[in-house]
Amino acid sequence: MSETTEHDPESDCLFCAIAAGDVDADVVARGERALAFRDINPQAPLHVLVIPVAHHPSVAALAEAAPEVAAELLVLTRSVAEREGYADAYRLVFNTGADVGQSVFHVHAHVLAGRPLSWPPG
Ligand code: 5GP
Ligand code: ZN
Repeated sequence: MSETTEHDPESDCLFCAIAAGDVDADVVARGERALAFRDINPQAPLHVLVIPVAHHPSVAALAEAAPEVAAELLVLTRSVAEREGYADAYRLVFNTGADVGQSVFHVHAHVLAGRPLSWPPG
């Protein structure tokens, strides 16, 4: 147990805990450096979150720091859609910022499919 009082985003991070196996999740796919698991509060018949194992706060931060991991994450989103039967129609969402709905600040792609999704989004 660390005695530090400094704020450490990774030790406080729910998705780091899921990636480490310390918090349970319904994992549907696992790559070398990325992980896919079902959203606990699904908004569509398919609602999977795809994350890098390493902590990055946003998709742009991930792409800057580790472009090959960003690419692996994106390929994994397609694999999830394909294996769940939604290769032809799925939506990727990266909420970036609390004002647009980001609540977990470990980058995650929402993979949504299985019902009509309106545009523009709400
Ligand atoms: P955001 O709002 O940051 O774009 O998305 C965070 C997502 O994480 C939400 O859709 C929320 O339902 C999901 N979520 C929050 N806590 C948990 C959890 O403990 N397990 C799983 N599997 N998903 C979670
Ligand atoms: Zn994290």
